[in-house]
Amino acid sequence: MRLIPLLLAALLIPAAARADAPRVVADIAPVHSLVAQVMAGVGAPDLVLPANVSPHHAALKPSQARALAEADLVVWIGPGLSPGLARAVKVLSDGAAQLTLLENDATTQLPARKAEDFLLVVDPGHDHDGHGDHDGHGHTHGPIDPHAWLSPDNAARWLDLIAAELSRLDPAHADIYARNAEASRVRLDEVRQIAAARISGLQGTPLMVYHDAFQYFENAFGLTVIGAISDSDDARFGPAHIAALRDRLSDAGVACFLTEPVADTRLIDAVSSGTALPLAVLDPLGAEIPPGPAHYPALLQAMVAALEPCGS
Ligand SMILES: [Zn+2]
Repeated sequence: MRLIPLLLAALLIPAAARADAPRVVADIAPVHSLVAQVMAGVGAPDLVLPANVSPHHAALKPSQARALAEADLVVWIGPGLSPGLARAVKVLSDGAAQLTLLENDATTQLPARKAEDFLLVVDPGHDHDGHGDHDGHGHTHGPIDPHAWLSPDNAARWLDLIAAELSRLDPAHADIYARNAEASRVRLDEVRQIAAARISGLQGTPLMVYHDAFQYFENAFGLTVIGAISDSDDARFGPAHIAALRDRLSDAGVACFLTEPVADTRLIDAVSSGTALPLAVLDPLGAEIPPGPAHYPALLQAMVAALEPCGS
């Protein structure tokens, strides 16, 4: 019964509602998209890191610093993705609430892979569904791979976390936040199923990557990556590792090299030159996709489309 008056209030006084909406900033475009979906009809978040720079090495512009300083809530992956942003949040967003997604108990966390993790023999029967071993409840050791937004399951849980945090700060719009989160989860599940069907043919196909950014995506969609040039913090592995990758490339029958728009192509050449290996450019941040509510589903679709050259 409380729903009807709240709905009416939202319809009748949109201007007032907007003025009262919490000021929210999000770190990267995919997270910004999830927040924008939950806030739809109430307000819109600010995006603090542009998608055309690596969040691992990002520095803030004055306008972004101002958004952080004025924020009521910061929704971000956390210091593990962007140490530069972590310093800024600490200084500028002192009084703001923070929702640190990577560290949340609801988040599936995968341990960052090391060079040796890639140079094991690939077992074709290896369980890659991502729901078994690493359930994100404290069983992981060492640093966590920060690219957790590439798990649609994480994104679905984050919609609820975002709605809960917004409702805490802005109880007047709690019903809208909850309804938006639920509708977004349903849409996200549809997009995930379509994406999974589209790349189901790549299951078990050995792939190599430039930057080890796709572990969550691999687990969600049953992909098998057997080599990387740089680790999940985007720090480069050593020359011996690069040489081993070269050998591995031919031995394992790698079908495709996944690169990013910002990748150093000289290193990819060093590993793959002399082979006719297809390159697939996957952008985990969706720099070419406009920020906003539609960004996240479009990102999943774009990544799946980019994988098409890898299928034979
Ligand atoms: Zn990355």
